[in-house]
Amino acid sequence: MEAGSAVSAVRSQRVLCGNDIRPAVILIKEGKIFKILPDASPNVDATCEVLDVGDMLVMPGIVDCHVHVNEPGRTTWEGYWTATRAAAAGGVTTIVDMPLNSIPPTTTLSNFQEKMKAATGQCFVDTAFWGGVVPGNQLELQPMIQAGVAGFKCFLIHSGVDEFPHVTNSDLHEAMKQLQGTGSVLLFHAEREVTQPSGEDGDPSDYSTFLKSRPDIMEQEAINTVAQLCQQYQVRCHIVHLSSAQPLGVIQAARQAGAPLTVETTHHYLSLAAEDVPPRATQYKCCPPIRGKANQEQLWSALKAGQIDMVVSDHSPCTPDLKRLDSGDFIQAWGGISSLQFGLSLFWTTASKKGFSLTDTVRILCQKTAQLCCLDNQKGSLLPGHDADLVIWDPEKEFEVKEENIQHKNKLTPYLGFHLKGEVYATLVRGKIVYKQGSFSSLPLGKHLLVGQATPQASL
Ligand SMILES: [Zn+2]
Repeated sequence: MEAGSAVSAVRSQRVLCGNDIRPAVILIKEGKIFKILPDASPNVDATCEVLDVGDMLVMPGIVDCHVHVNEPGRTTWEGYWTATRAAAAGGVTTIVDMPLNSIPPTTTLSNFQEKMKAATGQCFVDTAFWGGVVPGNQLELQPMIQAGVAGFKCFLIHSGVDEFPHVTNSDLHEAMKQLQGTGSVLLFHAEREVTQPSGEDGDPSDYSTFLKSRPDIMEQEAINTVAQLCQQYQVRCHIVHLSSAQPLGVIQAARQAGAPLTVETTHHYLSLAAEDVPPRATQYKCCPPIRGKANQEQLWSALKAGQIDMVVSDHSPCTPDLKRLDSGDFIQAWGGISSLQFGLSLFWTTASKKGFSLTDTVRILCQKTAQLCCLDNQKGSLLPGHDADLVIWDPEKEFEVKEENIQHKNKLTPYLGFHLKGEVYATLVRGKIVYKQGSFSSLPLGKHLLVGQATPQASL
């Protein structure tokens, strides 16, 4: 069965059903999971076309709720066509696009409509959209919720792009008042300026110079503010890309006090460590920064304990010139790491060694991320009635990250040459094969996901 085909049933010796892995047949009707038969029943073959994948593992497709597609406006950095093909090749069946780095940013209803138009006819996987909170746009928030944004992101520090300014405390109070009672969620880039000697005095081509310029205290200070606001307004709040383990205590205390607060970390904080970043290797630069190995161990422990809810890519590419590879200047280089295509394999390569199960993997990469965006009634689980979004992969197979296999528009990534465990064989979105063994469906089959709408999947 070729990429682009609609599938009526998927058979495997290893289907992840709840906590069990067992032989099963997933029956698909009109793009949704109709039934999961507990056994590989021979009767299925007579009634429909079956994709038999032997003993490849079948589980829900990944929901990556932190992706910067950058279109419209910065399409030389990334775009819907390339980003969603990379997603499909990596077993990601839903992405949620960040509101910044595109021009215009998704901070008004009209900008949101512009973004959806730009994405139309270009998506190989399903795509939802975050809005943004910037100074003075509070009256745009409810119209954007009604139009289907998944929630909003804001910055407490310069965002890196001038058209998406960061908010002050008073902006945050205004936004919180608008969000109260809506069920929506506010995402925080949780770093705040602190008065500390800057690291810019050191050699800018040494990673340690950059690392010293973004100390843990910047995350700690920001998260203190988030925890307090979340408790005060009881609006769902979410900390994106936690890098430092130091604020975990504050997060836990706020949660125990009843704050509806969630937190994500990223594949790069779990897979890469400051000690291993070579001089001038600005492809490792992101904000907050990749920290040391001891900190990374604490992130893994917190993930295991459920204190960190989910792991995302924070795929944030740019053109190679902005990485300043000629000078290797970490201070001047754009901050952002490309990894959308490799999230599942990056996670599994280390998580499998640390005793995480495939069920944990689904919880961390699919279910919790779907819940954050209120897409969990249709995405992130293998359940009858849910969209038939599947990743079919071999968790034991190893492969090397090679430039010719990277589908991102810009191929620069710190993972080049890495040997990863877990190779994607095929990806299905709503019952259609969008990717199989290096081939893609000829047409982009993804849809826009409008959260909270009567018809959640708007037509193309
Ligand atoms: Zn980001």
